[in-house]
Formats: sequence, C-alpha cells, structure tokens
Amino acid sequence: MNTKMTIEVEFSDNAFVATADIILDEAINILSFSFILNNDLVISEIQSNGKPVSYEKISEERPTFRPLSQKIVLHDNDTIRRIQIRYSGSVAFSPEKRSCWHNIITRDIKSLSWYSVWYPQGTSIEIQHDKVKILNGSDYFCVKGHYDEALNVWEYGDEGYDPFNIMAYRKEVLQTVYNPSMNIYFVDDTIKRHAARSVEIYNEIVNFYNGNLFNRVNIPVLDVACASPAITTGGGYRRKDFMWCTSLGNNDLEIAWLNAHETAHKWCTGANSSSWEDWLNETTAEWASLLFALSRNDMALFDFILKPKLEKSSSFPPIKTPDNSRPNGVHEKGTVLFYELYQKYGVEPVRSAVRIFTDLKIKNTAAFLDMLCNQGQNQIADFIKEGIMK
Ligand SMILES: [Zn+2]
Repeated sequence: MNTKMTIEVEFSDNAFVATADIILDEAINILSFSFILNNDLVISEIQSNGKPVSYEKISEERPTFRPLSQKIVLHDNDTIRRIQIRYSGSVAFSPEKRSCWHNIITRDIKSLSWYSVWYPQGTSIEIQHDKVKILNGSDYFCVKGHYDEALNVWEYGDEGYDPFNIMAYRKEVLQTVYNPSMNIYFVDDTIKRHAARSVEIYNEIVNFYNGNLFNRVNIPVLDVACASPAITTGGGYRRKDFMWCTSLGNNDLEIAWLNAHETAHKWCTGANSSSWEDWLNETTAEWASLLFALSRNDMALFDFILKPKLEKSSSFPPIKTPDNSRPNGVHEKGTVLFYELYQKYGVEPVRSAVRIFTDLKIKNTAAFLDMLCNQGQNQIADFIKEGIMK
C-alpha cells in the first residue's frame, strides 16, 4: 500500500494554518473517510478529489496520552482518491489539564508532536508515507529537516522518523552546540553552560549501555532539542536519534538522569506503551539509569532517581490493571518492585532481568516472565508476577 499524507504548515507567532493532503493508494476504493484532530483546531474546508465536500463531527474522544479530539467523517459519491483538509489554530501544553504534552507555539519555538493531535490521526485508511513542509522556511531552523532554498520550505519526513514531531526555532535566536556524539539546540542562554557536561555524561552512559548492559548497536549522532523557556515542565520524549527535552537539567544529577533514562529507551522499548505493559519500558529504562549509577558508585545519583519513587509508589494502584489500561504511577511502581528485587537478591538478577526484557522478540509481561523461567530464574519470575498485582 502506498497512501501518502503531506502536511503544509505555516506558522504565525502563536498559531498555525495547515493543509493535510492525503493521496490514497490506487487499490483503495472508499466513499467515506474518518480521522481525529485536536478539538481546539478549526477546520475551514475539506476537499475530496479537488472539490469541497461535506463532513461532520460525529463525536469527541480522548485518545491515550492526548487531548480531547474531534472525530470527523466525510463522504463522497465518487471513489475518494485525494483528500485535503485545511485547518488552523493553536495547541499548547497545559500542566493543569495534563494535555498537549511537549507542544507549544511561540515566536521563537514551534514545538509540535503526536501528543497534541495537531494533525489527522486515527485515519480510517492507514498512511504509509508522511511528510511535513514548513512554509517561510528561511525564518526557521527545523531539527531533522532539510531546507529547500528554491521553495523556501523545510521538508521533513519519509526517513523512518515521525515527521510530525516538529521542533523549529526562529533562526535569529537559535543557539547550537555541535559535538561528535550529539547536537544540542536551544534558545535559552542558561542551557549553554550545561551542554559540555551533558555531552560528557552522555558518552559515559553510552559506553556503559552499548555492548555492556545491552547488546551493541550503532549509535548515530543524537539531536537534542530543548524547549525552555517556552516549556519548562512535563518531561521529554525520544524518537530514534531525536530527543525532545525542556532543558538539559539544572545540575549534574538532573543531567545524568535525563541522559541515562532517555538513552536507555533506545533498548528499553517495544512493550505496548498505551497499556499497563508500559511498565516494562519504563521500569527497565529507570533501572538502566540506576545500574549506571551503581556502576560508577554514584549513590547520590542512585538516590536522586530512586527516592521520589519510593516516596510515591504506595499511593498508586497495582501495575496490572483489570482492564489492561495504563495505570497511574507506572514509572514508580515498577522501579520500586525492581528495587525490592535488588534488596532481596542483589544486583545481578536485576541486571539480567533488564537485559532479558530488551532481548525479547515479543515484548510483553507474559513473554518476559516465560523467558525468566527459561533461564532458570523462576524465583525472580514469581516475585515479579506477585509484585505487579500489589
Ligand atoms: Zn521513559
């Protein structure tokens, strides 16, 4: 299948206008099409096969990790070959509403991602190729994008990245620190003084993980996009060699934890992150960070990562939810469960459990427990099996 979606986006200081252009695979024969879009965005027109077409909002829903979204359905009397959706508005992270994580549009920073539903998602036809074009390109620098001077657009996508994770900075204010292992992009002056330390610790972490704690992989240059001062809370995310964060951290402990946790996700990934199974991704990433701290006898870092979780863990529900939904406190509960394992059996079983998860072909709790048993770690498997119900 070869269905393509290209989104043209034009930014102002605090909003955007976008056109999503979807060209369907020739083998697809449909008369209707549906998708979801952030509920605050306003659709001005939808065309099918080049003609305006009627559409309706049939419901509102709140998809996992994302804000309230409108579900739109359009119908045509002819087979739909091409759909163009024009819409505009703004999306912004709200800590109070716990919505639109990592998204904001300011004069200096345009930060958009999957977490805001700023582009059509949940499409009734699966999309194989995706691309973003940012107009008025000469005003910006887009991390991971390619600048086309003739067209004055930044193009981004179709290279195995999720191109809808946009981090574009106004050129005049962007600062960059380049290194052999990471490029750091920011506008906030205070980040500059932490850049050198961040690179240093990142290299130390990669040496500990790559080919030691985890199997050896090729590590491309990491692009780190900082959102401060536009966004200063709410954590970060990582997609391949693109890392989004608010800042690099304000001190050595924060810098080490951010790098250790996010880098671990290169391996600690693959369990369904919208279900309770996400405990596997997050627990192993936190424990990779804790094992890194132990490897350098850095008990200050160990406590810095662990203590807040020990304090909060008991207030959260069990990891395994009756309806398989993702419980609150999935980082805390799993990290503390592995800490109990560490206290009872020592560091080796924890190290091996982390490694076993990352080596699994099918990443879920059942396969994880099976593999522990296959490797003769029945006691550990039983301990975890009980722990996730508590
Ligand atoms: Zn994580």
